[in-house]
Amino acid sequence: MLNIALFGPPGAGKGTQSEFLIQRYDLFYISTGDMLRKEIAAGTALGHEAQGIIASGGLVPDEIIVQLIEKTIIEHPDSNGFLFDGFPRTYVQAYILEGLMLKLNTSLSCLISLNVPEDESVARLLKRGATSGRSDDNETVIRNRLREYSEKTVPVLRFYEERGICRTIDGTASVETVQQRIAEVIAAELQKKLLNIVLFGYPGSGRGSQGKALAEKFGLEYIATGAMLGKEIEQRTPVGQKVLELYENGSLVPDEIVVQLLERRLAETKHAKGFIFKGYPRTLVQSYILDGLLRKHGSSISMIIEIEVPPLELIHRLDLRSKTDRCMPYDNSTSKIVTRLKEHEEKTVPVIAKYNQLHGVTKIDGMGTFDEVFARLAAEVEHGFKRMR
Ligand code: AMP
Repeated sequence: MLNIALFGPPGAGKGTQSEFLIQRYDLFYISTGDMLRKEIAAGTALGHEAQGIIASGGLVPDEIIVQLIEKTIIEHPDSNGFLFDGFPRTYVQAYILEGLMLKLNTSLSCLISLNVPEDESVARLLKRGATSGRSDDNETVIRNRLREYSEKTVPVLRFYEERGICRTIDGTASVETVQQRIAEVIAAELQKKLLNIVLFGYPGSGRGSQGKALAEKFGLEYIATGAMLGKEIEQRTPVGQKVLELYENGSLVPDEIVVQLLERRLAETKHAKGFIFKGYPRTLVQSYILDGLLRKHGSSISMIIEIEVPPLELIHRLDLRSKTDRCMPYDNSTSKIVTRLKEHEEKTVPVIAKYNQLHGVTKIDGMGTFDEVFARLAAEVEHGFKRMR
C-alpha cells in the first residue's frame, strides 16, 4: 500500500494537490475536513458537536476524529493506499494513525509537508473565501486556524522527522511545480518498497521451480535456504560438513546457521524489487526471525502464498524425482521422503496457520501443468505489485 499524508497550514494547497494524487496513484482520499462538513450538512449529532468548533477555527477533539477515520479505513482494506488530507493534525492523531495502519498490516509511506509562510496562507484563504462558501474562510477565523496549526499541528512534523519519513516541499511554487515535486518524492518512495513473498507448500508441491520462475519474471531475489545450504556443502565449508550430517538424518539445520547465511544474502542483494522466500520460515521460531531480519532491512512481508497439492500426488512426484538426476540427498529414500513430509506437517503447517490469522494466506491450486500453476501464481504476484503501489 502507498499511504501518504499531506501536511501544511490551511491554504497550503493540500486539497488541490490531493486531486492530482488520487488520480495518478489511485488512492482512497480521506479528508477529515470534508468528512466533518458532510456530518454538519447531514445534521448528525457528531456534526452538531463539530460545527461550533470549526466555525471558530479550533480543532475538533481527537475522539471525534478517531470515530470518523477508523470506520473509513477499516471499510477499505483493499484500496491501493490512502491519501490523508488534514490528518494527523495533532501529535496524538499521529499515534492514532500508526495504530490504524498497523491494523491493516501497513504503515504510512511518508508525510509530505507543503511549506507556505503565514501571510501567503492568509492571502490564499481570503481569496478562497470569496467563492468557497466556507464560513471559516474569514480573517479572524483564519488567524485562529493558523494559531491552532502552529501550536497543535506543527509538533506532528517532529513525530515523522524522528521516523525519517517527513519530506518537505516549497508550497509557494506553481501548482504544476509542486505537483512535479510531489511526484518525485513518491517515485523515490516507491523505489524503496520491496515486494517480499513467502512461498509455502509441501515438499513436491513445485514451490522450488515455481519460486525460481516467479523471481525471474518479476525481478525478485529468490531465496531458498535449502539451496544456500547446498552450496555450503558443495564448497565443502565447515558449515557444509555439519549440514550434510544433518541431512542424512533428515533433520532441520539449526537456526543459528541459517540466520547468518540469510543476513549475508539480504545485505548483498542490491537491485531486486523484493524477495521470494522458499523453504523459510519452516518453524514458528523462524517466522519471528524472518520478521526481524526484514525489519532490520527496513522492510516486511508483503504476501504469503501456499501451493496446495493433495498428499498422494506429492508422494507420486517425490518418488518420480528420486529416480531422476534431480534427486536430492534428502529425498533419495522413501523413509527420508516421509520424514520431510512429517516435518512439514508438524512444524510448518502451524506457521502457515499463524500467518493465516495475521495476514491471510493466498492458496493456489498446485495441480495441472507447470504453466497453469505458474499463471495462477503470477496473477497473484502482479496483484501484489499493484497493491504495493
Ligand atoms: P480543513 O478542511 O482540513 O481545513 O478542516 C476544516 C476544519 O475542520 C478545521 O479547522 C478543524 O476545525 C476541523 N478538522 C479537520 N480535520 C481535523 C482533524 N484531523 N483534527 C481536528 N480537527 C479537524
